[in-house]
Amino acid sequence: MAFNGIAEAWGSVKETGTNLLEGAVSTAKAVADRAYVAGEELASHARTHLIDRQIPEELLAQWEEESIVRNYAPPAEFLGSSRGSLMRSADGKRTYVDGNGAYSANNNDNRNERATGSFHAGSVDSSVLSRARRSPELALLGREVQRIFGAQKMILPMNTGCEAIEGGALIGKLVFNKSEDFREKREKLEEEGIAPKLVVCNGNFHGRSEWAKAASDEEAYTKPFEPLAGEKNIKQIPFNDLDALEKTLKEGDVYAFAVEPIQGEGGIIVPDPAYLQGVRRLCDQYNVLMICDEVQTGLGRTGKRLAQDHSGVEADITSIGKAISSGVVPASFFMLDQKYGKLVKPGEHGSTFGGYPAACRTMRASLREMEDRDSCKLAEENGAWFMRQLKQLCDGCPGIKEVRGIGMMIGIELEDEGVATVCDRLRQSPFVYKGQKIEGFWTNAAHDKTIRISPPVTTDRGLLEAVLYSFAQALNHKNPEIYRAVKLEAAPGVLDVVDDVRDKLGYFMKRARRFASDYREARQLATEYENAA
Ligand code: PLP
Repeated sequence: MAFNGIAEAWGSVKETGTNLLEGAVSTAKAVADRAYVAGEELASHARTHLIDRQIPEELLAQWEEESIVRNYAPPAEFLGSSRGSLMRSADGKRTYVDGNGAYSANNNDNRNERATGSFHAGSVDSSVLSRARRSPELALLGREVQRIFGAQKMILPMNTGCEAIEGGALIGKLVFNKSEDFREKREKLEEEGIAPKLVVCNGNFHGRSEWAKAASDEEAYTKPFEPLAGEKNIKQIPFNDLDALEKTLKEGDVYAFAVEPIQGEGGIIVPDPAYLQGVRRLCDQYNVLMICDEVQTGLGRTGKRLAQDHSGVEADITSIGKAISSGVVPASFFMLDQKYGKLVKPGEHGSTFGGYPAACRTMRASLREMEDRDSCKLAEENGAWFMRQLKQLCDGCPGIKEVRGIGMMIGIELEDEGVATVCDRLRQSPFVYKGQKIEGFWTNAAHDKTIRISPPVTTDRGLLEAVLYSFAQALNHKNPEIYRAVKLEAAPGVLDVVDDVRDKLGYFMKRARRFASDYREARQLATEYENAA
């Protein structure tokens, strides 16, 4: 008996020891693995700073001209880094306010720490696994989307905004072809030999694929590529015109209507407040799918999670891109209800990188960041404040047609062209903020005549106030000096630092609470499943 007892005790000591040893070995392997990647990261930094940054910018410009297709025409300045609302020149000497937010990808700051950290962690664990393999990250992202947008939602992840909206429209066609909801309409069109059509709006921008070009009426995007395939099944109608929509839907051959809730590239065109509600009503009345392209308007930019939330309507298919991964990695998806999502079968649509684990982690972090940073509230409050200030400022400037927008998606339309020159001036109209010289507000035109104003929605109210001086200079205000925020020019004092620390603490407390409750939930789920097994 005694011998048995000793043998048992020895067995359990051995087992515990083996477990500990195995745990220690796998932890050591993981540490070594990460240390290796960290070493590579250091080597990459060393290359950047010791070698690449030594190359004269004139030479880089020449290399770029010769080796990169010139599909953009940026100013000569090379940028080296960006953080928060600021971008720094590659030589580190000049700082600019990011007035464009990478076309609304950087809604929550440039180089958002949380998204960047998640991406780093995800990319250390694995590179792309292909969608023909399972990763926990994909399921966790889907669950997060359901938590935020509704338990009945499904997503199909892609990479770019264009893929998300083109994919959304494609799946709309699949839904039309498969769903019982459209059987009668589909059979009638088949009998009559009529192809179902997609309706889009004049002035739209859905990206750069041949589908998106075929849907566009912008000569610069389409003319060089003619003839474009597919136009005959895409019909254009005026934006913000419910009569035109009804007239077209009445024809009975439309399967979907794709619309941006606010036209971004079209010139920050905000429709009437009741427009999307009217669209939803007409789509329901004529049994047509409503597709919203929220690639630019999504995730806090306009002061709501989605711009369609302002109207209290829900599109059948919504495309989201850009800010979904905080500008850290190209990632996008379209979202639809399960009753339609479940019609898609393996092999019918996909992408190599769509939904790869590191991107899924980054998207999940970005969605949480939108909540924990109160991005919607910031865009709503700071955007409304900034637009009021800009309207007032523009009253004192020549050549302004209109200041319009919603949330932190604002446009200043000029009476004549020359918007590129004004944007150039804006980039070079300096001011001082908290002891730092800032060269100006760096943005681009939205369409022919409109200055695009879409800085990160997290931009400090103080910085927005200080940057008004750039606008006053660039727009030839009759008395720009009244917009100089002298009180904001001094370097931050102790009280500013204390305020900053307090804000940061509040934010981290929120995250710590979320972490704790997620941990409890995960433990509880694991226990429930163990008990059931
Ligand atoms: N849809 C809208 C409304 C956009 O604004 C854009 C890009 O600006 C796109 C689609 C295309 O996105 P991407 O350039 O990521 O393909």
